[in-house]
Amino acid sequence: MLLPSPWRADFPAIAALQRQGQTYLDSAATAQKPQALIDALTHYYANGAANVHRAQHLPGALATQAFEDTRHKVSQWLNVGSSGQIVFTHGATSAFNLLAYGLEHVFEPDDEIVISALEHHANLLPWQQLALRRGLKLVVLPLTETGLIDVEAAACLIGPRTRLLAVSQLSNVLGAWQPLTELLAQARAQGAMTVVDGAQGVVHGGQDLQALGCDFYVFSSHKLYGPDGVGVLYGRHQALATLRHWQFGGEMVLQTNYYEATFRPAPLGFEAGTPPIAGVIGLGASLDYLNSLDPLAVAKHEAGLHQALREGLLAREGVQLLGSPELALASFVVDGIHNADLAHLLTEQGIAVRAGHHCAIPLLKSLGLAGAIRVSLGMYNDSDDLERFFNALDQALELLQ
Ligand code: PMP
Repeated sequence: MLLPSPWRADFPAIAALQRQGQTYLDSAATAQKPQALIDALTHYYANGAANVHRAQHLPGALATQAFEDTRHKVSQWLNVGSSGQIVFTHGATSAFNLLAYGLEHVFEPDDEIVISALEHHANLLPWQQLALRRGLKLVVLPLTETGLIDVEAAACLIGPRTRLLAVSQLSNVLGAWQPLTELLAQARAQGAMTVVDGAQGVVHGGQDLQALGCDFYVFSSHKLYGPDGVGVLYGRHQALATLRHWQFGGEMVLQTNYYEATFRPAPLGFEAGTPPIAGVIGLGASLDYLNSLDPLAVAKHEAGLHQALREGLLAREGVQLLGSPELALASFVVDGIHNADLAHLLTEQGIAVRAGHHCAIPLLKSLGLAGAIRVSLGMYNDSDDLERFFNALDQALELLQ
């Protein structure tokens, strides 16, 4: 079936990569950028860069306005009401670290932090290290056979000692929506705080965090067709108010003398130093671009491509999918073939997919695997990309099998 992408030409890098003989199928690692974002960055740098929230001059006022406009656009993308609940960080990873340090004072020894077996290192290591620092217990929710967090097991494991639940919305390895509604309800019933890793989920359309009801939600701009170096931490007003300040420096302070200081509340109190100004403005341009598209058409295109990817993989002898991927990506191994050998032959043929542990070493280990190949899709991919991938895969399998 032919699945052309109506948005392919909006992403100049796709054609450039094709001229370099590359088929890009690694959007879950980072997405290519729309022309609208490139134009916004050029406009900002070509017309006068300025620092935000500091300067009284015109360039400073314009930069601050554009920066704050993005905060508003992010709050709309997440449907969270007030943009004062959006904190800009330097990436999803820095947002998780901010949380793990900013919430440290909330925990008593023997309190429990609950995560799941499929978490990316970014939503595992900050909590693991917090648990080690403070003598807390890290509880790991198991997965069902199809790669979903096991809600029934969670009902036993989330209990009165649970102080915080931190889980992914959409796994970067298994590609399935996780049962967040049930998990968050279980945590809330125990009075625990909730953190959602939205790094992969946020890419597939606007979110409704008011309906979801999490305390915190984290993502990176660069996977949402925006610039790298920018992350977002959403926190409900009351949840943000429990955070202790973490990084200290310019513009996050209210008053200080040489010996002590008082600090601003969120969001600015958690944006110490010069933030990634161009990146934040660029993220706003990416969101404008995404908002100009028909979300149903994008979802339909992505679903069609994913189905073709999944069916094509399952049709090949010896291919085993990890979990039961339902959108955006599929990870797989092939019986009797080392993923590094396969990755090498795919790379040689210009197929840009990801191979290895996907920053989820414990998950891969629990599946008994050293690594896997992951094919991930963006809105600019089309059926020709998949055809090139499958041709390359068949060539590689013929050599290796
Ligand atoms: N969580 C998930 C599910 C991810 O896929 C990633 C990025 N691979 C992250 C967190 C961390 O994002 P970043 O590297 O942009 O901080």
